[in-house]
Amino acid sequence: MSIRTRFAPSPTGYLHVGGARTALFSWLYARKHGGRFILRIEDTDLERSSQESVNAILEGMTWLGLEYDEGPFYQTHRFDRYKEVIQQLLAQGDAYYCYCSREELEILREQQMANKEKPRYNGKCRHGVDNPQGERVVRFKNPGQGDVIIDDLVKGRIVVANKELDDLIIARSDGTPTYNLTVVVDDMDMGITHVIRGDDHVNNTPRQINILKALGAQLPVYAHVPMILGSDGARLSKRHGAVSVMQYRNDGYLPEALLNYLVRLGWSHGDQELFSLEEMVALFELEKVNVSASTFNTEKLLWLNHQYIMNSDPAHVARHLAWHMGERGIDPATGPALADVVKAQRERCKTLVDMAAESEYFYKEFDGYEEKAAKKHFKAGVDDVLQHLLAQFSAIGDWEASGLHQVVLDSAEQLQLNLGKVAQPLRVAVCGSGVSPAIDATLALLGREKTLKRIERAIQHIKNVENS
Ligand code: GLU
Repeated sequence: MSIRTRFAPSPTGYLHVGGARTALFSWLYARKHGGRFILRIEDTDLERSSQESVNAILEGMTWLGLEYDEGPFYQTHRFDRYKEVIQQLLAQGDAYYCYCSREELEILREQQMANKEKPRYNGKCRHGVDNPQGERVVRFKNPGQGDVIIDDLVKGRIVVANKELDDLIIARSDGTPTYNLTVVVDDMDMGITHVIRGDDHVNNTPRQINILKALGAQLPVYAHVPMILGSDGARLSKRHGAVSVMQYRNDGYLPEALLNYLVRLGWSHGDQELFSLEEMVALFELEKVNVSASTFNTEKLLWLNHQYIMNSDPAHVARHLAWHMGERGIDPATGPALADVVKAQRERCKTLVDMAAESEYFYKEFDGYEEKAAKKHFKAGVDDVLQHLLAQFSAIGDWEASGLHQVVLDSAEQLQLNLGKVAQPLRVAVCGSGVSPAIDATLALLGREKTLKRIERAIQHIKNVENS
C-alpha cells in the first residue's frame, strides 16, 4: 500500500505551531514510507475563511520547507462532488431529510438537559415524515447498534458505542455540506491512508468512520496528536507569546530549529536533542508520540535555535540573516559577506534578530555612541590612544585578522597600557558600543576604509567633548 497523508487546515487565521506540528508529523510519515503528502484547504466556512489566511498558511509551509506532493486542493471547488455524495447517501437509504425546526430541536435539548440526558437528536424524521413542510437538512443515518473501533496510532484502541452517536447533519438547509461530510469525501477521494490530526477531532472520528463505511470506502488509519499547552497548562494561544509560525521567523528563528523543537515536543529518541531532517524522517515514529499534551517551552526552543545557528552551514544561516537585514533596511552588499558575519557572531547570538541588530555597524554608520560605553571608554586622553592606532592601521599592508591583532598588541605595549585600555576604546570607536566579536575579527570584517574613518570620527568626538 502506498502511504498518503494530508494536512487539512481551515484558513481562518495564520499557520500556528500546533498546526505546523500536525503538518510535520504527516509530512514525516509520508516521507518515511516513500508516500505522498497532500495539502487540502478546508475553506467551506465562507464567513471565517479568507484568502489572506490561505496565503499565510502557504507561506508558513514554504518557510518550514514542508513541501507537499499534491494540492493545495480547495474544498470550495468541490461542492458538486459533495452534493453528489449526499444524493448517493439519500438514495441508498443511509441519509434522510429532517424537517425539525430550530425551535423544536431547542425544546428537545432543554428537555434532555432537564432530565440529565446527553443532548442528541431523537431521530424523529429518521423513518419518514408524513407531511413534510418548511426547511430541511440532510442527516446521516448512524447505525443504531454495535461499536466503532478505532486503533489510533497514538492513543491506542478507542471504542465508541453507536448508540452514543446521533444522526448528524451532513447538509444544511441551504444545501451546503458540513465539516464531517466534506472531510470524509475528501479523505476517500484523495485515497488518504493515514489521517494524522489534532486530538480535538477525536470525537468526529467515529462519525466519519460510519459515513466512510456507508460509502464502502477503505478506512484510513487514524493518529490523533495531543494538544500543545502553554507554560500555565492552558491550551497554547496568542497570550503565551508567538504561536504563529511566521512570528518565529520574524523573531529570528531558523525553520529547522522550530521543526526540531516541534518534533521533540511529546516525542523522544533516547536523549537525543538535535535531529537533522534526514534523522527525523528516519527515526520519527507516531507510535511513540506521548498520549498526554505537551507543554511549549520557549527557553528550550531558544536553546535549539542557538545550536542551529552555531552548527549549520554559515551560508545557510546567512540566507536567513539576509532577510532580517532587509527588514532593517540594510543592503548586505554594502559590507562584508554575511556568511563571514555569521561565523563571527554565531557564538554570541541566539536569534537572527539579535545577530542582525548586532551586525548593523558592519554595513551602516551608527548614529551615536552608546552612552555608558562612551562614558567609560572615551575618557580624556583616549584620543591619543586612538591616534596611535590610526597611524599603525594606516600603515598596515594586508587587512587581515592576525596582522590587526598584532597592531593592537604592539600598541598596548608601546603605550604601556593593558590590552583592554586599547581594545575597548577601539571597539566603541568602530562599533558604537562595547560589545562585538573579537576585536581583530571585527576590524577584519569592517574593512580598512570604515575602520579608519570611524577611528577618526571617534578622535574628533573625544576632542569635541574635551573642549565643550
Ligand atoms: N480543518 C480541520 C482543522 O483545521 C482539520 C480537519 C482534519 O484534519 O480532519 O481543524
